[in-house]
Amino acid sequence: MDIHTKVHGFTLQRKTFIRETDSTAYLFTHEKSGARLFFLENDDDNKVFSIAFRTPPIDDTGVAHIVEHSVLCGSRKYPLKEPFVELVKGSLNTFLNAMTYPDKTMYPVASRNDKDFQNLMDVYLDAVFYPNMKRDPHILMQEGWHYEIGNADSPLTYSGVVYNEMKGALSSPDDILESRIMTSLYPDTTYGYESGGDPEAIPNLTQAMFASFHDRYYHPSNSYIYLYGDLDIEEKLAYLDAEYLSHFDRIPVPSHIKEQKPFAVMKRSRSSYPIGAEESVREKTFLSMNWIVGKSLDLKDMMGLEILEHAILRTQAAPLRKALLRAKIGKDVDSIFENDILQPFFSIIVNNTEENCVDAFCETVEKTLATLAEKGLDRTLMKASINLFEFRLREADFGSAPRGLVYAIRVMKSWLYDGDPEAPLYYEDALQQMKDGLETGYFEELIRRYLLDNTHRTLVVLRPDAELAVRREARQAEILANKKAAMSKAEIAAYVEETRALKTRQQTPDSEEALNTIPILSLKDIRRKAYDLPLEEREIDTVKVLLSNVETNGIAYVNLFFDAQTVPQDKLLYLYLLSDLIGSVDTEVRGYADVANQQNLVTGGIRFDLAGFSRKGKPDSLAPKFCVRMKVLTKKLSDGLALVEELLTKSRFTDEKRIRERIEQEATSIELSLQRSANQIIATRISSYFTRVGAYSSTGELPFYHFLKDFQANFAENHAKMQRIFAELLPLVFNRNNLLVGLTIDGKDYGAFEAPFEKLLSALSEEKFPAQMYTWDLAAKSEGLTSSSRVQYVGKGANFIRLGYEYSGSMLVLSTLLRYDYFWTKIRVQGGAYGAFTNFNRNGMLFFGSYRDPHLTQTIDVFNATGDYVRRFDATKREMDKFIIGTMSSLDAPMTPKMKGETAMGCYLHGVTFDDRQKTRDEVLATRQEDIRALAPLVDSCMQENALCVFGGEEKIHAARGVFDMVKPAL
Ligand SMILES: [Zn+2]
Repeated sequence: MDIHTKVHGFTLQRKTFIRETDSTAYLFTHEKSGARLFFLENDDDNKVFSIAFRTPPIDDTGVAHIVEHSVLCGSRKYPLKEPFVELVKGSLNTFLNAMTYPDKTMYPVASRNDKDFQNLMDVYLDAVFYPNMKRDPHILMQEGWHYEIGNADSPLTYSGVVYNEMKGALSSPDDILESRIMTSLYPDTTYGYESGGDPEAIPNLTQAMFASFHDRYYHPSNSYIYLYGDLDIEEKLAYLDAEYLSHFDRIPVPSHIKEQKPFAVMKRSRSSYPIGAEESVREKTFLSMNWIVGKSLDLKDMMGLEILEHAILRTQAAPLRKALLRAKIGKDVDSIFENDILQPFFSIIVNNTEENCVDAFCETVEKTLATLAEKGLDRTLMKASINLFEFRLREADFGSAPRGLVYAIRVMKSWLYDGDPEAPLYYEDALQQMKDGLETGYFEELIRRYLLDNTHRTLVVLRPDAELAVRREARQAEILANKKAAMSKAEIAAYVEETRALKTRQQTPDSEEALNTIPILSLKDIRRKAYDLPLEEREIDTVKVLLSNVETNGIAYVNLFFDAQTVPQDKLLYLYLLSDLIGSVDTEVRGYADVANQQNLVTGGIRFDLAGFSRKGKPDSLAPKFCVRMKVLTKKLSDGLALVEELLTKSRFTDEKRIRERIEQEATSIELSLQRSANQIIATRISSYFTRVGAYSSTGELPFYHFLKDFQANFAENHAKMQRIFAELLPLVFNRNNLLVGLTIDGKDYGAFEAPFEKLLSALSEEKFPAQMYTWDLAAKSEGLTSSSRVQYVGKGANFIRLGYEYSGSMLVLSTLLRYDYFWTKIRVQGGAYGAFTNFNRNGMLFFGSYRDPHLTQTIDVFNATGDYVRRFDATKREMDKFIIGTMSSLDAPMTPKMKGETAMGCYLHGVTFDDRQKTRDEVLATRQEDIRALAPLVDSCMQENALCVFGGEEKIHAARGVFDMVKPAL
């Protein structure tokens, strides 16, 4: 296709080859409607489609976010309550979601199956252009907010999916801080608003505002359509033109993003965040200095700032981070460089400090930056950060996210602001400019221009407030009470009726006819045979090496699994501590900052962690491993393994200052990530009531936090004790008799691993130590963990193998069913929670959990009634096939080379064979209504164990005191 070619209503504007992504890029315009279309053509079969709109908010009502949810609640061709959920249940998608950003909304889908891909596209296009949300007010009520009142005498309350989602999202202090930073930097533009919605402001959104937001922005003239992968572009263009775009005429859309006028001097602002009424406010303040830094279209400087942020703030060698910690301004240092918006911002943050450190904070930042700009940045430090950045670009491993999706998000950095969509995909030239910049003072110039000499700057202080949550709840209760008091009897009756009508709508299943509009695949489209995950067993000097021979693009993924069963149980917390400290302290060869530089120069990262593995079918089994995981270019394997050897055998734990810093940082990071990891924590805790592997893992979570706090309270003595214990542990753990290697590499490069690995082996202890016995008192518990959270995470579970049942593939289908049918309806749609999850593990653990849930006991009731749902489960053949296909999409999720190796090794360590996976797959494919119903007694037995763990707000948990054996603060 040549430039200016006209095809199916589109004109090709530009065509270029992008070496970095091995793709040809095409930019089209749809003449009649004004839609833009960008196509990235390559041989990736994981195809991606996305349609995005520029949606700058003009208030804090979260309208962009609520519209994002709502367009997926039924449309012209697909008049169901939730076509999105119907799609999730029964498609082979590899990605299906929608995202609201501060200035855009994106609707991406991905699939490797052509028919599925086409179905997904059509449902999404119909949703964005012809949604039912404009006509049916119940949609805003459900997805956004509504007054809820069960009968005339009960109090009026607010409910709604986004309302509760944002209550949860804005519970974490770092999220609140980021929101306040943006308000401070962009007082006059769209970026000053909370695009997700502020729970206090969400109830200001009316149906009229809601519908007009859609009218204004959801037009092809304001759209950015993206296609990626191995697909027939002419066919897609013809379809887009005929089915959607040709029905619209080009219009001007007022979505231009205004720029914030620069400040002449730094502005200051203060604000507060809620903590628990029983928590101390000491050392819980956040200080941040923030700048608007240039334009996202200036891609070279954006890359420069990203590298600079890493070098001066993120690595353990980072000079500004070190200066702030050494000046004892806070417990940890954080940073933000946000460049997904037109005017990016840069923030330096200190947490767990006091407001009276503000002056010292400003001074240290200013002075350190000035010194760096004047005397120059350390070359090794800068080279190390550039090297790591380059490694990540070339590896392009985005985990489970399809590569085409990551590129879809990346092109918007330029395209949304009228730049060339393909520009952000190139990196070779810019990378070379970074390397050249080392010689020309480029990074020092960035510090001067964007930070030191930049007056568009704010200082934001965020303080803890133990009464804020209570005050806010009281204020809201008052607003609602006043609202109710001002209503006439008839008005109250109308709201009661509306609540009832909404509930009825939510409880009424979609008609057969409506359901049948959603296209689904046939079971015939599903592959029968499980994917092979080959592992070759080799041996180097009597140590077993599991080789995952896959094409890795010149990278080696080295996993050393040291059996940690030799560590006495009473030293387990110290082993967790060791895994945190190693790699970030001095060695006999160099200081900790040089250790960090060496890691970044030589590898793509080295990580240490403890993991417990259980054997399939054996709830009592536990194989604890100390894991060392390194990513490294094959050609640097020798240096990488030498560094690992140095860390394992020559680390020194004597530097008191450094150890204290690391322990404070670790404790702080557990505090800050508490809300985000709440669902993980409750799942592990429930597993710890029933399995040793759960008890082992759970020790590394909340008990480890208390250990760190106790450690700090009596530091000198504990530090001495720690050194004695580490001296005892090191030869026990880093011992060649304990070692199993998992290596993911191109088979032809295996030789590059052997010799340097033998050298590493020869440095490890050979002494033999006995395995230790671990015992825990396993018993079902019922715990309430309190915090300042405004939402709950409710978990319930048990071990079905202990109760006499066996694992089977039909459980995976039940998981899909619960997640997208029963729990979805009861907990999300009716309960207003963000979501609910299930898990069935081969070691027998069953887990049900809700996420960002306004309720507590009501959700437990839903869990308890699951057995009844399962017993009465009724589905047509079509429905059943749909759930099976939806289940298969998670079994067959595409994997990166790294994931292939990790999954294969995980199976090996859990004792899961190819035959086991094939058996499970066969069982999934053969699942019938009777197989689901047959799981009812299992679910009932599990629920009757009454093992419960809830993380949530103090008030809610205390109000439900009766359901717990024990209530205590989470931290
Ligand atoms: Zn949302």
